[in-house]
Order: sequence, then structure tokens, then C-alpha cells
Amino acid sequence: MENSKADLITAFIGLGSNLENPAEQIKSARTAITQIPGVRELAFSSLYHSPPMGPQDQPDYVNAVMCVATDLPPIDLLRRLQHIENNHGRVRKAERWGARTLDLDVLIYDDQIIEMPDLIVPHPGLAERAFVLYPLFEIAPQLTVPGKGHIVDLLAQCPMNGLKRLD
Ligand code: ATP
Ligand code: CA
Ligand code: CA
Ligand code: CA
Repeated sequence: MENSKADLITAFIGLGSNLENPAEQIKSARTAITQIPGVRELAFSSLYHSPPMGPQDQPDYVNAVMCVATDLPPIDLLRRLQHIENNHGRVRKAERWGARTLDLDVLIYDDQIIEMPDLIVPHPGLAERAFVLYPLFEIAPQLTVPGKGHIVDLLAQCPMNGLKRLD
């Protein structure tokens, strides 16, 4: 079923970059996301600095989380985000979690649990990642993550792991 205009969903998007002026990549991605038809910004976290996950021979990351209202179905939202990644020079390599100009993940889509071949929501890494949970908490301190629990309880189980809030 298509979501009608009157039927807006709240979704959370994770943003990350560690190449070619990461803070600018994040800011420019924010603008691009707000320009997606059927997407409106509700909140945007501070920028955070985090050590890389996985391969350590790469620069630190800048991360943020954005909350949007949308009438796009989740797979359409993902495709739009991937298009923005490509426009920001994202090159997909074989190495998992390697350096990238821009990474946009669908963290949460309404209260839905989605298990499609190309889209798993809530994002599988969410509960273990300080660079997702802390910015998420900053903009949605009351949030319950579908299937995972209250944000406060998730945070209590997740060490900062070198995460630093900027500004
Ligand atoms: P991770 O997903 O662990 O954060 P990554 O972001 O580096 O790692 P990518 O290479 O950007 O991984 O994406 C790999 C695939 O993940 C994409 O092709 C996409 O189809 C799939 N995917 C599944 N669930 C999601 C989601 N919630 N948000 C974004 N991509 C997703
Ligand atoms: Ca818009
Ligand atoms: Ca990711
Ligand atoms: Ca991704």
C-alpha cells in the first residue's frame, strides 16, 4: 500500500564520512536529504567524531543522525539515499567498513521491523554502535527502538568507544 500524503512516517537516518572533508560531506548530505521529494527534516544531531570500525588504517569518522518525516516507502528512501551517496563520490569496494566519502543508513523506519534482501530495519548494528546511539539519544531521548528496546537502556550497554561530540 502506498503511504498517502496525510500519512507521514518518522524515520531516522545515520550519516557518516571519513574522506574529503567529512564535516562538509555530512552538511551537504543533510541538504540533499531535505531536497528529496516527500522528505522533511524534523531534527539533526550535533556532529560527532569517532574512531573507525573494522579496518584501523583509515581516518576517523564524522557521524550524525537525522530525523525525518516522510511518505516514501522504506525501499524508496534507501534508493534515494544511495543515489546521494553516489553523488558524493562513494566508491563501493570489496573491503567491509572501509573508508568512504559518505555513508547513509536507514536506522529506523516508524515502528516497523523490515527484513528485505536489501534493507534490514532497524539497522542491525544500531544497538552496538556508540556513533549511532549517542546522536540518536540527543535528538530522540524518549525513543524506543523497535525490537531492541528503549534508547536509554541501549546506551547503558554501549561504551563511548572514543566517540566525541563536536561543537
Ligand atoms: P553497515 O551496514 O554495517 O553499517 P556499511 O554501511 O559499510 O555497513 P554498505 O556497504 O554501505 O554497508 O551497504 C551494504 C548494503 O547494506 C547495501 O547494499 C544495502 O542494501 C544494505 N542494507 C541493509 N539494510 C540497510 C539499512 N538499514 N540501511 C542502509 N543499507 C542497508
Ligand atoms: Ca523535502
Ligand atoms: Ca553504515
Ligand atoms: Ca551503508
